[in-house]
Amino acid sequence: MGRIRVLSDHVANKIAAGEVVERPASVVKELLENSLDAGATEFRLDVEAGGRRLIRLSDNGTGMMRDDALLAFERHATSKLSDVKDLLSIATLGFRGEALPSIASVSRLSLETRSREEQTGTAIEIAGGKILKCEDAALAGGTIITVRDLFYNVPARKKFLRSDQTEIAHVASLMTHYSLAHHDKSFFLRHNGSDLLDVTPVETLRERVYQVFGSQTLDDLVDLGEQDRAMPLPADEGEPAAARRFRLRGFVSGPHVHKLNRNSIYLFVNGRLIRDRLLLHAISAAYYNIMPAGNYPFALLFIDCDLEEVDVNVHPSKTEVRFRHGSLVHDFVRDTVRDVLMAQRPVSRMISPGQPPGQPATHLPYSEFTQRMENADFGVLAAESMLPSATPADAALLPEFLLRRPPSPVPRFDFSDASIPADMPGVTSTVRAIPDTHGPLFPNSEIPQLDNLDALRDLRPLGQLHDSFIIAAGRDGLWIIDQHVAHERILFEQVLEARRRGKVETQGLLMPMVIQLTAAQQLDYVRIADELNALGFDTEPFGNRTIAVKSAPAGVTGSDVEKVVFEVLEIAEREMRKASLEDQRAAIAASIACRAAIKINMRLEPAKIEWLLRALAATSSPMSCPHGRPIAVRYATRDILKTFHRI
Ligand code: ADP
Ligand code: MG
Repeated sequence: MGRIRVLSDHVANKIAAGEVVERPASVVKELLENSLDAGATEFRLDVEAGGRRLIRLSDNGTGMMRDDALLAFERHATSKLSDVKDLLSIATLGFRGEALPSIASVSRLSLETRSREEQTGTAIEIAGGKILKCEDAALAGGTIITVRDLFYNVPARKKFLRSDQTEIAHVASLMTHYSLAHHDKSFFLRHNGSDLLDVTPVETLRERVYQVFGSQTLDDLVDLGEQDRAMPLPADEGEPAAARRFRLRGFVSGPHVHKLNRNSIYLFVNGRLIRDRLLLHAISAAYYNIMPAGNYPFALLFIDCDLEEVDVNVHPSKTEVRFRHGSLVHDFVRDTVRDVLMAQRPVSRMISPGQPPGQPATHLPYSEFTQRMENADFGVLAAESMLPSATPADAALLPEFLLRRPPSPVPRFDFSDASIPADMPGVTSTVRAIPDTHGPLFPNSEIPQLDNLDALRDLRPLGQLHDSFIIAAGRDGLWIIDQHVAHERILFEQVLEARRRGKVETQGLLMPMVIQLTAAQQLDYVRIADELNALGFDTEPFGNRTIAVKSAPAGVTGSDVEKVVFEVLEIAEREMRKASLEDQRAAIAASIACRAAIKINMRLEPAKIEWLLRALAATSSPMSCPHGRPIAVRYATRDILKTFHRI
């Protein structure tokens, strides 16, 4: 007997569920999309225990007739496709007929539905894919789907679920996305009895953005308006005059808003929520040179094109698409966004390529700095040649102007590594001896060498370069210290020390500052509220998705208060879900230190410079800031000697 068997539907559904249903948010996505396809205008989602105990979506859509309701749980049963030709132009969100049977095969599901064409509604109960009950039900038109005990019969999957907080954060973010795509509809989300999202229909996308993100975010955004362009096809594809039309609307943030990850980029293609590398790249390209690489904007983009231009049948969860003319869409998005940004305000060139990812925005108020620099008389060419010629690591850290080649032949020396502090990993110094023709300054054996950081303690400040870098003479050579990151390191350690002793210095705000949060931020806030408070932010919940800040740590003032809170929430979202208390504390302290630290472009009194150097020498890690950037570079005496042919 042959060995190949056709799998039963039961098994096939469970396999499909593996692709379609990854976590509670994927169930929510499929249910929401079905409700949208059914023309609903009100969506009410109740969730318990992050979605593992309960997910219930009620809609006021068309509902299903009894026969359809039963059919809906058959594999590949759909009302949305009838012919293979339809696959080329899919206007609905669903089309595979896989979601309901997949979800039903890994949960206990109940469906209540009534089409307005029938007198009575239908209630169906299914567990593990088996229909247990089908009876009449009294309800108004629409559909209620309840999914309980997700993965109760797939323990392996269940194990992969993260904490309730993480799972609900994904659900909330999904619901938020769809609420943005449909500002004329109501969305309501409740988790374990508390309301996370409650938005009623509004006239414009702008108003919905306001409802979801609050006025503070809206102030930072640029409205793209309604953009509509015909993009010519490349000559080798079709007749020369052929073009494809693309439309774009939505909002993007100005170049001053720097997000640490791509979570604030919301992309919709023909109303479908997608993740797409090509479009993410197009957005980064639009900000090229006006935002440091490794930082991301906020973007809410709705791209529309002919249905034939996108293949949505690429992935079972329908979160990826394939464009027929990828480069046209890419260039369209890049150019449109960039043009709007440029028209909004001319922006200065900012920073070198390859800024390492994850650098907080606050490190880079370089825009004004570089602008001033470009106009400034470049009297300090020596300083330029002192900086290590762009090794990859340094290229990432230095403002672009510092990496430019000097205009005239200034001696450049083979010390590419030598001026990097000795404790930088992976750096070895290669010093080539040059014959001495004028007699040595030091006998070779006595050239001061940096062997430990004690040299920092007796640095003699010589002044400031461009009001931003402290130049100091040391036993072992010439030092350049970034005043902002140096102060940041000092404050960081002070804040942590004060926290350890329970003596954090705070200052009351004249007026409590009210900050609006998104549903996901609200959840992150709840998780880190205690630590925020212990570090000097006296905050408390203040009504629907807002918190009031009543005091802030000493040194953090004005709009920085809000910025630190958002920055910390962003870090919380990105990496603190699993982080230990220590890590949370360090992240918050780093953010506070960065805000409170003296900035670049600031003239410092000699006494202040002295103080800064002493305080820096006293820190436990004076060579890198809490975010990992170097604080100082050193031009070793040996290299100076070599430069002047003295050894
Ligand atoms: P698909 O959405 O790909 O068609 P699903 O398994 O998600 O497949 O749904 C199967 C069918 O059930 C849909 O085609 C639709 O006819 C019906 N359906 C599902 N959810 C709803 C709903 N909320 N309201 C009305 N009909 C629905
Ligand atoms: Mg569907």
